[in-house]
Amino acid sequence: MKPGYEAVIGLEVHVQLRTRSKMFCACPNLTGAPPNSHTCPVCLGLPGALPALNAEAVRMALTLGLAVEAAIQPRSTFFRKQYFYPDLPKGYQITQGPVAIVEGGHLDIPGEARVRGGEGQVRIHLERAHLEEDAGKSHHDLEGGTSHVDLNRAGVPLLEIVSAPDLRSAQEASDYLKALHRLVVALSICDGNMEEGSFRCDANVSVRRTGEAGYGTRVEVKNLNSFRFVRQALDYEMARQSALLEQGQPVQMETRGWDASLGETRGQRTKEASMDYRYFPEPDLPALMVEASEIEAARAALPELPEHRIRRWCEAYGLGLEEAQTLAQSPAFAAYFEALARLSGSGRGAAAWMLGEVSRTLNERGIGIEAFPLPPERLAELVRLVEARTLGFGTAKEVVYPALLAGEESAAAMVAREGLAQVEDQAAIRALVGQVLAANPGPVAQIKGGKESLKGFLVGQVLKAGQGRLDARLVNELLAEALAKG
Ligand code: ADP
Ligand code: MG
Ligand code: ZN
Repeated sequence: MKPGYEAVIGLEVHVQLRTRSKMFCACPNLTGAPPNSHTCPVCLGLPGALPALNAEAVRMALTLGLAVEAAIQPRSTFFRKQYFYPDLPKGYQITQGPVAIVEGGHLDIPGEARVRGGEGQVRIHLERAHLEEDAGKSHHDLEGGTSHVDLNRAGVPLLEIVSAPDLRSAQEASDYLKALHRLVVALSICDGNMEEGSFRCDANVSVRRTGEAGYGTRVEVKNLNSFRFVRQALDYEMARQSALLEQGQPVQMETRGWDASLGETRGQRTKEASMDYRYFPEPDLPALMVEASEIEAARAALPELPEHRIRRWCEAYGLGLEEAQTLAQSPAFAAYFEALARLSGSGRGAAAWMLGEVSRTLNERGIGIEAFPLPPERLAELVRLVEARTLGFGTAKEVVYPALLAGEESAAAMVAREGLAQVEDQAAIRALVGQVLAANPGPVAQIKGGKESLKGFLVGQVLKAGQGRLDARLVNELLAEALAKG
């Protein structure tokens, strides 16, 4: 972006709700089924079919609303948004009118210290979150020159979460989006799959001269199906818009699409050409009334929120923000980490194993933590041995951990049986250090001449002499000590 300008960004996020059935009919809400196998007169828009609101979707909207401390509306209504498109069988989408079930609210996101020079949290306000239905999917078959429409997705429940224009940079927008993603996954209202479109983001962005109070003309960028694309598209738009203003040219109010292969946004339609959706109240659905008892039930069922959990972990275990965020990626991963931290008695140790070896195993096997073969108790025993320095980290990682994965019952039993415990006797390590120094007069002289980098070589020699049973940190210390003396 040109110097002297700042960005104003608001995100509209469509969250596909993980209900059992669709928004207004009993068809299953499932992906991956044969095309048009989950349809009925309601979601096909056949004449005379009547919609009935899904109570589970309402409960999920309440859950989100309470998690962001929004005002839950006791009464909200549905409207018809009319437009013509082949994957919209009714010719209109049912969405919420001027009042949504969730109004206001906020999400506090960490890390904005980077951009705004402040400490800690930035509060991003929400405008509203409203319930609506998804459209079907068009498949353009290029070979045959034909298009196919799959209506399995038609009528799938969506919660559209609209932020206020409170975001000021591409990084901040992506931090907010990640926090919102963690939240809906932690609340078990969305599977969070961005590639498959379960969590979709449109970004509104304008730029203005730094310090100006009003907002500039905004552009809406569609088709942002990854966090990286959101950052790239926003950075591109900020540069494009600020360059226009710098040349004295106006920014056009328009909808643009992100072209990932070209790395640019491209104009799709301008505001003048934008559609009149002829909104009017949906006559086939009564107002959505929410009772205080329903709100209380949803509140009582709220889990610990990810941003709270992340802060707690940072404080209790001394974790870095990004480590804690990665650990909070899914409820199951977070739960495993909590168990491991508790059972091993070391939050830091547990975090290191989760982010290191455990993640590597999950990636290699292409599985989630749910399918990880070791219960936390078994891994905790290994973490404890390493934290107590009974077992060297290298041996733990290369020998004991793979054995546990392969069915070894107990890390402690294996260490005892195979004599893997670390040599703790400092005198013994000093003796090995002495031998290695004596055997390597050349490198020792070079280190004394200033070639510090050769220390690593000597440490390696000592570790090798100790057959993997030495604590590398201790060897480093004792070697430095011996070099200083000798
Ligand atoms: P629409 O219904 O046309 O999409 P909204 O008023 O609901 O318009 O706003 C949509 C999104 O645009 C919101 O997330 C809001 O924060 C954001 N927004 C509004 N004005 C601006 C602006 N000038 N610059 C950037 N974002 C904006
Ligand atoms: Mg919009
Ligand atoms: Zn249906």
